[in-house]
Amino acid sequence: MATSIARLLSRGTFRPLQTFVNPKVPCRRLNLLEYQSKVLLDNYGVTIQKFRVLDSPAGAVEASKELAAKEFVVKAQILAGGRGKGHFDNGFKGGVHLTTDPEVVTDLVGKMVGNKLVTKQTPTDGILVNKVMVCEAVDILRETYFCILMDRDHNGPVLIASPDGGVDIEEVAEKTPERLLTLPIDIHDGITEDMANQVAEFLLFNGDLKEKCAKEVINCWNMFLGVDATQLEINPLIETPEGSVVAVDAKIQFDDNAQFRQKEVFAQEDTSESDPREVDAASHNLNYIGMDGNIGCLVNGAGLAMATMDIIKLHGGSPANFLDVGGSVQESQVYEAFRILTSDVNVKAILVNVFGGIVNCATIANGVVNASRNIELSVPLVVRLEGTNVDEAKKILLDSGLPIMSATDLDEAAKKAVAAI
Ligand code: GDP
Ligand code: MG
Repeated sequence: MATSIARLLSRGTFRPLQTFVNPKVPCRRLNLLEYQSKVLLDNYGVTIQKFRVLDSPAGAVEASKELAAKEFVVKAQILAGGRGKGHFDNGFKGGVHLTTDPEVVTDLVGKMVGNKLVTKQTPTDGILVNKVMVCEAVDILRETYFCILMDRDHNGPVLIASPDGGVDIEEVAEKTPERLLTLPIDIHDGITEDMANQVAEFLLFNGDLKEKCAKEVINCWNMFLGVDATQLEINPLIETPEGSVVAVDAKIQFDDNAQFRQKEVFAQEDTSESDPREVDAASHNLNYIGMDGNIGCLVNGAGLAMATMDIIKLHGGSPANFLDVGGSVQESQVYEAFRILTSDVNVKAILVNVFGGIVNCATIANGVVNASRNIELSVPLVVRLEGTNVDEAKKILLDSGLPIMSATDLDEAAKKAVAAI
């Protein structure tokens, strides 16, 4: 099983299991683009720059004029950091540029949109840029770092701050750990005024600026709680020559379990960077990960799903996907799962492996029969059901008259699926 876990983890998309296998890797799914994060920050009174968002160079001059700024910063929007030091696949350097000329803004937007930006945090072939943020630029005297995150080592939220922002914070942690302040936050008390002042002092904001910074810190905390964030990173939080404190870059991650009460936030998810099959499955509450084999799997439970993939491998086959339908699966989800599996042209056989603990096997059987009929299933289907209501389930499959191969255990099921191809 270890190889499957390693493979899934290496995909980087299998978050529920990351939590299970490695308790130090928290479950985080939703990320927002910088401009979306900034809207949330603004709602909570955190100081940000005025901005417009463009998806083509067409409106760039107009957007620049509306901003009425003496200088603009043009920033590619992707779900990864390190953009400033990144490069595009067309050879253009840098995902963050400054200019005073609205015509140059147009030119910059044109060079970014439709091209892939490669940074330290992206896959090696980069991420396609669909949106560009044009902001009123600020003059920067100093860049600092500020972050709040849910941390397992502290069993709660912690605040991390450094006067050396803008650069690689990992490098600060490694080379000059004394320049990093880590303060555990009591979830009931939140960030107190004393703590906020301590942070402002550590970040070397003095006089009036100390008060301003402390206010930003408290506003950040209110936002962190208010939107159910698991991480809020502001890098850099800057000081301007005019004496302002501004959040210039922001990255927020959210707690998946809060989706039910953060509908507006989750509705903003940008899925253009994801596998469409995974997005489709997620919209039906199915845990799906596409792979490159040819046996489509429909399984309940992550552990059983991995065991299924391993046994398929053991018998010389190759799984086309990981699909965990979960414990509270409904007939309609079984249908959707079949639809997604069969829409993959690489799938040459389907293996359903369900162990009914909470799951009612009859629900699965009805779903399988209805889906097979409606979708006019044309690939061999092997079904192994065990557990709650299994006798009724087997009868449903048998009575359907469909050419479904049944198996009594996982080993037999995998052998039959591999042989069917
Ligand atoms: P990242 O590279 O993805 O982290 O993107 P950032 O938004 O953090 O921008 C990278 C760097 O560009 C920042 O650390 C700043 O040094 C610089 N930068 C960003 N916005 C401005 C701005 O409004 N004015 C100035 N002078 N520099 C900026
Ligand atoms: Mg940054």
